[in-house]
Formats: sequence, C-alpha cells, structure tokens
Amino acid sequence: MNKILLTPIEYLKGVGPNRADLLKKEIGVYTFEDLLFYFPFRYVNRSVFHRVADLPGLNGPAQLKGRIVELKETGKGHSKRLTAKFQDESGMIDLVWFKGANWIKKSIKINEEIIVYGKAKLYGAKWNIPHPEMSTVDDSTSTGFQPVYSSTEKLSSAGLNTKGIEKLVKTLLPQVEGIYEEFLPTSVMEQYKLIPVNQALSWIHNPASEEEARIAQFRLKFEELFFLQMELLVRKHISMNRSKGFVFAEVGEVFNTFYKEHIPFELTDAQKRVLKEIRKDMYSGHHMNRLLQGDVGSGKTLVALLTMLLALDNGYQAALMAPTEILANQHFDSISEMLKEMDVQVALLTGSTKKKDRVGIHEGLEDGSIDILIGTHALLEKTVQFKNLGVAVIDEQHRFGVAQRAKMWKKNKLPPHVLIMTATPIPRTLAMTFYGDLDVSVIDELPPGRKPVTTMHRYESHRLRLFGFLKEQIKMGRQIYIVYPLIKESEKLDLANLMDGYEAITRSFPLPDYKVSIVHGQMKPDDKDFEMNRFVKGETDIMVATTVIEVGVNVPNATVMVIESAERFGLSQLHQLRGRVGRGADQSYCILMTGDALSEESKKRMQTMVHTNDGFEIAEVDLQLRGPGDIMGTQQSGLLNLKIANIATDGHLVSVTRDAAKKILTIDPALEMEQNTGIRKRMLDVLNSKPDWGRIA
Ligand code: ADP
Ligand code: MG
Repeated sequence: MNKILLTPIEYLKGVGPNRADLLKKEIGVYTFEDLLFYFPFRYVNRSVFHRVADLPGLNGPAQLKGRIVELKETGKGHSKRLTAKFQDESGMIDLVWFKGANWIKKSIKINEEIIVYGKAKLYGAKWNIPHPEMSTVDDSTSTGFQPVYSSTEKLSSAGLNTKGIEKLVKTLLPQVEGIYEEFLPTSVMEQYKLIPVNQALSWIHNPASEEEARIAQFRLKFEELFFLQMELLVRKHISMNRSKGFVFAEVGEVFNTFYKEHIPFELTDAQKRVLKEIRKDMYSGHHMNRLLQGDVGSGKTLVALLTMLLALDNGYQAALMAPTEILANQHFDSISEMLKEMDVQVALLTGSTKKKDRVGIHEGLEDGSIDILIGTHALLEKTVQFKNLGVAVIDEQHRFGVAQRAKMWKKNKLPPHVLIMTATPIPRTLAMTFYGDLDVSVIDELPPGRKPVTTMHRYESHRLRLFGFLKEQIKMGRQIYIVYPLIKESEKLDLANLMDGYEAITRSFPLPDYKVSIVHGQMKPDDKDFEMNRFVKGETDIMVATTVIEVGVNVPNATVMVIESAERFGLSQLHQLRGRVGRGADQSYCILMTGDALSEESKKRMQTMVHTNDGFEIAEVDLQLRGPGDIMGTQQSGLLNLKIANIATDGHLVSVTRDAAKKILTIDPALEMEQNTGIRKRMLDVLNSKPDWGRIA
C-alpha cells in the first residue's frame, strides 16, 4: 500500500493533536486512508431553497434561508427541550431540539441569516422541524451540490461539523489523487458498469451532480460487498479443503423401505430438493455443515429423519439434539411412531433420564445397538460415546452456540455431518453473509392442505368479545394459548403482569368448565414440564405463558394464539408464536392484543403480521425495521462493519456481488490469473489481518 495513506491523521493540514484525538475517538479516523473512506451519508442540493409557507405540502427534507428571532428553553429532565422561532419572508416555524440544548444554544446567533436543513413534522396541529442541521450563509455558498458528513457533538465543538470535515477531506483529496491501482478486473468493471476506484473516491466526496454521487456510491458499495463475499467464499473453500467427511455412498434398504412404505404423504418439492442437496454433501467426501431453514410447520423433522436414515444405510449412527426436554420428547415420540414398523432402534436421552436407563443407553451407543439417539444437550456430555456417529442434526439453531456445535464434531474420528435446522427465517442476503461457513438450504413451501392462520389485531376495548370467542372455541373442543411478553428490565414486573392476566382469565373462565395451565420462566423445570404436559395431553383448555413456549411445541388441537401486549414483541417472535397454532386440520387464529397508542414501527409490525404468513417476507420487513445487527445479535456485528453498503437496503447488490465473486473463483480458484492480481492482493491483506480465518468455522 502507498505509504501516504497510512500517514497519521494529525499530519493533515488543519488537524492538530487535539482534533486528531477527537477524530480517532469519535469516528475511528486514524489515518489519511480512514478519512478518505469516511464517506458522506447524503448530499444536499444547495442551490434549491424552500419557503416556510410551503412546508406543509412538502414531503421530504427542506432547505430554508432565514433568521432565528427567538430562543426558548422549556421543561425539565426528560421533557426538556429547546425551541427556536425561525423566520423567512413567507412565515415562521419552530425548530426543536430534545437533546444537546446547551451546545446548540451556544452556536445560535439571534437575527443572523442562516441556512436550515431538515424535515418538517406535524405535532398536534403545529408544524415544526426537529433537530435541523444549520449552517451560516457564507459557509454554504461555495458549491451547488454538497456532501453531508455525520459528526458528533464533541467534533462539532472542535469545529468539525459536516462543513469542517468537508474542509479536511478537500485538503486531503489532491494529496491522494490517483493513488490506488485498480483491483477489480476489467471484465467485472465492464459488466457492472463500474467507474475506476480513484474516480469514485473523488466523486463520492466532491460530486458535481447527483448523478456523479450515485455512480460513485454504486462503485464503492459494489467493491465493499464484492470483497466481503469473496472473503466468505475463500474462507469456506479453505475450511472445506481441511475438513474430510464420511462418504455416504449408498441409499439403501432402510431409507428406501421407509420412503416407499412408511411416509404417509408425498414429500413437497421443497423437501425433495433439500434432500438432494443433503445427499450431495454427504457424498462429496467433505464434512457437511448445512443450515436448513424452513418456516414453522414446513416439515423439517421429516427431512432430518430421512437424513439420519441415510447414515444408518451406510453403517453409521445418527443423533438429533433439541433445545428443550419437551421438544426432545416430542421428536422421540413422533420419530418412534413413524419408525414403529421398521427395525431401527431409537433411544431418548435427556436430563431426566434415570441413571439405570442411562447406563443401558451408553452401552447401546457404544456397541452400536442403538441407531438413533434423540435428546437435549445431555448428548454432548463426554460420557456419551458412539460406536460410529455419522450425522448429527441440531434443531432450532439459535439456542445453541458455535461452541456447542463444535462439541458434536468430536464425537467421532472424523466430524459427523452436521445439519442445523432453524425455523427463524432470515433473508437470503443475510444468510449469505452471516452463515458464510454454512451451506444454506431452504424449505420454502408448506405441505398441501394447510389452512393459513387468520391473524387479527385487536385493542383492549374488544376484550369482552375476545373472551366470548375463546369460549366458543373451547366449547368446540379446541385449546388456546395466551402469551405475555417477557420484560427484560424487570422480571418482577413481568411476572406480576402475567399473574394479573392469569387471575383475570381464571375469573372469566371459571372451573369446572375451564381448566387453565400456567408456565413462566421462574418456575422450576419440573413444574414447567408438568404444566406443559397437561396442556399437550389436552387436560387443560388454556395455556397462559410467557414466551418460554415459543420454540417448537406441537399441540395440533390448539387453534387460538392470543398475544398480549403484542407491540412489545419483535416480528420474528410474533411469527414464531403464531406458528404454534395452525398445526391441525381446524381453522386457527392468532389475535394480537395491543394498547391504543402505537408507534409507527409497532403499527407496521402488526400490519405485517395481519397481512402475511410468509416467514421470509416477515424476515425482510424485520430487517428493514431493525437493521441487520439487531437481528443477528452483536457477536457477528464485525462482519457488518460496512462503510457504505447496507445489507438491509442493498440486498440485491449482495446477491449480485456474490455471483460475481463465485464466477471468478470457479474459473480461477487460487486467484492466480493475471487479471485477478488485484483481487489476490486484497485477499492476502485480508487473510493476513485475520490469521484465524480458516479455523473459525
Ligand atoms: P417443522 O418444520 O416446523 O419442524 P414438522 O417437521 O414438525 O415441521 O412438520 C409439521 C407437520 O407436517 C408434521 O405433522 C408432519 O408430519 C407434517 N408433514 C411434513 N411433511 C409433510 C408433507 N410432505 N405432506 C404432508 N404433511 C407433512
Ligand atoms: Mg420442528
């Protein structure tokens, strides 16, 4: 790399030690290169001005020229705010700040002509502009089309607001002109109409038009996502080559008999496709590491079972691990039932397996008389040894960490093939990025004949009618879930809330006509299982619970899911909960109960739930609303350290760049061809800066 790029930022003209310190701490700019890659987050067309009088009709941000004629501070604590009356020839509007009043106050001069940029909003009957950007007139007259950089309070008070940062960048640009060698191959640049990197870096900071800004952004986003995907693919390639796996060459007796004689229905096309993908992996000689995504009820268990039977046919054992005891029991029951006419030995191992049974199971696993072991993480204990474990299926992935997955691998000489099943769909573009180490299969189709769950959004005022409806359903012999939110900040409040609900329900649904179960997080596991089982067996009509029931439970006779304070739940959780009903032949309902005052975002969540049953569509909306970091949790957020691209909104470009990267690697896996020299150099830099790369998966 050219040395000037690594020059510490304090050596740039206009940056002293003090500013340098702030640039490092506040926005992570340490070097010239960091500043070059500190991109504007938007642009303003400084040549267009609006009038205060026209704001109500304007849908979008406005630029105004005028004066602040009065400044007022009101309220205390949380409700403290600063209001400035802003005036131009056409009228007056309030500018409002809820935060940073002290600093704003200092920077405002009454009656000085300024330029204000912001979006007018209607509060009650009054328009105002919350948190506008402000600049002095002479600052802004320089260009027509101007970049806006994000700044912080501390930077601004050191003179580095957006204008200040822009000045620094403009000082830097001439020094680094033409500094990069192009690292993308000409063919890629031509195919995707990308401008050269040096031009993009100049235009992104200093575009002559909106068009130039857009073209520059596209080039830089493309490059960022392209190298991200390249990195993921190379990483996968490395770990693939290191991991040898058992070869399951045969589809034999066990699989075929079961497939032909004991499956009571035709597999869906999606199930067939996924099975093919799995068989291909198991035949490849490499260790399978595959994620199976499928909406609730899409029939993942059957795919898991068939996968396990393939192992048996090839002389191996299989294991299935579930996150809770109830789920393990259910898997054991349904799989034993499906296999009852076959000569396959299935065992169940959980925390509550009796000691003397345990010994028998351990022996059976070691001498190979047990073919399939189903259980909880009890399976991971050291004492559990297999004769020859060939495949491990892990249900409901989000409950198990990578470390636990890795324990499974140690259960045989070579790691067994691993199939991870999750009912929490994530958008494809995210899957491509986060599960770079896994292959992803998707069951995107439900078995035929399912009646979609009808979802309704209701307010407190409907409660009487709701209870009437629930009584009707119970009279018809159906069962009902009523779920309360978990309040993270206060488990006490949470429980109190649930208990209030429970009391109201037992009052409205009195014994002996109605029987109610209750399950919450503070019960002992035994008590929880006891209550849960009463409901599973149909001994109770109503299950009042916190979200502990979220995962996997199957009670086909339950037809109504009432979610209390539904606005407190995230979309994927709402969808998971809804998946608990609609598992039998009867029409099922999901009722979202909320308070009257809902935020825009909560409204959008309720509307989405009412409007669609498609988990992937819901996942997309969720991604738009929350952003990728929140969805995947923070531990992977390093991957999201993107400077310009956004996985949520640039989803299409994620796919495009992945395809582009794949195409290059297919032709030139080691990146040795001359036209790929640039890519190779970049990749070496990346791999060297993260030496653990190949071992992470
Ligand atoms: P999930 O993907 O949520 O784990 P399950 O595997 O529990 O779903 O399947 C849900 C239900 O659908 C089960 O009762 C299962 O027997 C049934 N099922 C699975 N595949 C099919 C199919 N191809 N046709 C009809 N029913 C199916
Ligand atoms: Mg399941």
